[in-house]
Amino acid sequence: MWLHYRKIYLRFLHRLVHNFRPPLDIEALCNEGRLKEAMHLLYQMPVESGIYACVLELCASMKSLSDGKEIHAQIILNGLPINAFVATKLVRMYCKCGNVVHARLVFEQTMERSVFLWNTMIRGYANNGFYKEALSSYSEMQVSGISPDNYTVLSVLKACAGMEDLCQGMKVHCRIIRSGHELDLFVGNVLVAMYGKCRSLEYARQVFDKMPLRDNVSWNTMIASYSQNGFCDRALEVFELMEVKGASPDSLTIASILPAFVHGKGKSMKDVREVFDRMSQKDVISWNAIIAGYVQTGEWEEALRLFHQMGSEDVKPDSITITSVLSACARLAALQQGKAIHEYIKKIKLVSHLFLCNALIDMYAKCGSVNDARQVFDSMSQRDVVSWTAMIAGYGMHGHGKDAITLFCQMQHEGTQPDHITFVSVLSACSHGGLVDEGMQYFDVMIRDYCIAPTVEHYACLVDLLGRAGRLCEAQDLIEQMPLEPNESVWGALLSACRVHCNTNLGKLAAEHLFTLAPEKPGYYVLLSNIYAEAGRWDDALVIRKLMDEKGLKKEPGCSVIELKNRVHSFLVGDRCHPQSDEIYAKLDSLDRLMRAAGYVPDTEFVLHEVEDEDKEHLLYYHSEKLAIAFGLINTDPGTPLLITKNLRMCGDCHHAIKFISKIVQREIVVRDANRFHNFKNGSCSCGDYW
Ligand code: ZN
Ligand code: ZN
Repeated sequence: MWLHYRKIYLRFLHRLVHNFRPPLDIEALCNEGRLKEAMHLLYQMPVESGIYACVLELCASMKSLSDGKEIHAQIILNGLPINAFVATKLVRMYCKCGNVVHARLVFEQTMERSVFLWNTMIRGYANNGFYKEALSSYSEMQVSGISPDNYTVLSVLKACAGMEDLCQGMKVHCRIIRSGHELDLFVGNVLVAMYGKCRSLEYARQVFDKMPLRDNVSWNTMIASYSQNGFCDRALEVFELMEVKGASPDSLTIASILPAFVHGKGKSMKDVREVFDRMSQKDVISWNAIIAGYVQTGEWEEALRLFHQMGSEDVKPDSITITSVLSACARLAALQQGKAIHEYIKKIKLVSHLFLCNALIDMYAKCGSVNDARQVFDSMSQRDVVSWTAMIAGYGMHGHGKDAITLFCQMQHEGTQPDHITFVSVLSACSHGGLVDEGMQYFDVMIRDYCIAPTVEHYACLVDLLGRAGRLCEAQDLIEQMPLEPNESVWGALLSACRVHCNTNLGKLAAEHLFTLAPEKPGYYVLLSNIYAEAGRWDDALVIRKLMDEKGLKKEPGCSVIELKNRVHSFLVGDRCHPQSDEIYAKLDSLDRLMRAAGYVPDTEFVLHEVEDEDKEHLLYYHSEKLAIAFGLINTDPGTPLLITKNLRMCGDCHHAIKFISKIVQREIVVRDANRFHNFKNGSCSCGDYW
């Protein structure tokens, strides 16, 4: 009887163990990516090294360093031998988690080193940016008598590319040739990339041409090599060849070819766009690439148009897309579209991303809405130095110097360490707010309390600060005494100050430096000739204009944009292309009568004098910001504030005229010119005529 029960009990136990086997299977849990459960089981039963290897793999792919370390400890505690197999898994886990120091410790402690272990160590170094260590391990490997294989070569070439070490790269290449094997596809691709990175495009192309087999990676690498080195034509040529050979471009092709257009002078995005339009399957990567391309080449309206098209083609934008389009909105001062994007990211719950909030602060500040910027800033649960700096810069460009300083103090109080960019923002806020003493004081604070060595940008801010306050001699002294070579922004700041304070001698000095530093920029010639014109020195002004003509420099045409119902309308000086042109000019006529009745006299000094007096008035009349304002007045309800963005510095007459207009029409008019924001309200401007 007793025996009978015992049999049943044993049978029951047997069934229990066997039937419940699946949940106890660590390997199965690993395959399903259930790391926590696998770890839990690992503690409850003794396992062999194969199981540890399996969990280590999962730790590596999930980049879970803490779990990986625990397993390492368990292996040691259980007294399991760390052979080449286990060591490889450990090294791989540590490298994947970015901890090459621990990886190297395991490697050092392993006596028996297989080619896999060497490869894992070298790859770990190369992938984590430890290129020198990768190359020295490669030498060690050869000394120890283990011959490298294709996998070793891939990592070593990657390290050569990272260090731009052409010599070492060529040695590896020679080794591959000597080995007599046909060029492997992956090795070929990495060789092309290495030569491209080392700017040896001839060699890159030779390898590319000799490759018996190419995939899309090969084509993209060759295109990227040309394009990153500024050879747009060659990049396009390979691209055309790619099509001839029947390889189809993918989203990475677009991303590879873009740098050529962004950096190549006189190149438009047209060719990339053709490729993009022809692609049958466009994923978010290709949309991001093309939109970022337009943002970087300054075609912001097109970037926004594509963003809308992306939505209508049902491709969901990600945080990279949103950052690009927010910066396009910022550049265009397209506040309504910026707001719509803000609403959208709230809806899809992306709003908690720190860098998106930073982009929102920047967008709102540049679109003239400091209050919205501040709301975003206040709503953030976590802020970094970029957030603080963006908000301080926002206050600065609107002339709210005091607010900028208050915020900077709060930043110090909350323990966020300012960087050199923060100080550029603080100094320029002091400058725009006319806070000279405070600015000088913060310059000292930066050096003394934060040990930040002043850059040439900081000096430019100081020159601007002193120059605006009319302390031109001090500004000049500062330039002479500064320990760095003064650059374009330093002399540019001095020239602008000379323009505001009508100092022809110093203006001439600054301009001469600028003519050598930036000979291709017409703006400085115009500024100097304006300084002469204002001082009544017409002959000198004319000499400068002639100089410009001789050099073939044309004054950049003034262009103003205004956003209306999610569309951006742009106007050039004297523009008659707009469909509402007649209405616009009629509006300007009626405004002109009201302004003159209120005491406005056109200030013709701002027009270069080679035209007759009555033409001068006409030229002023048609400056692009006035056209944009008239257009805004016609198309919006009374009382709606207007926001206009202009590419150049606003002229004195327009500034004067807009003050009158703001009073006559009782509107708030904000103009963002090349220098700053002007907030016109009831006959005066926030800059206090100081810009
Ligand atoms: Zn003007
Ligand atoms: Zn102003």
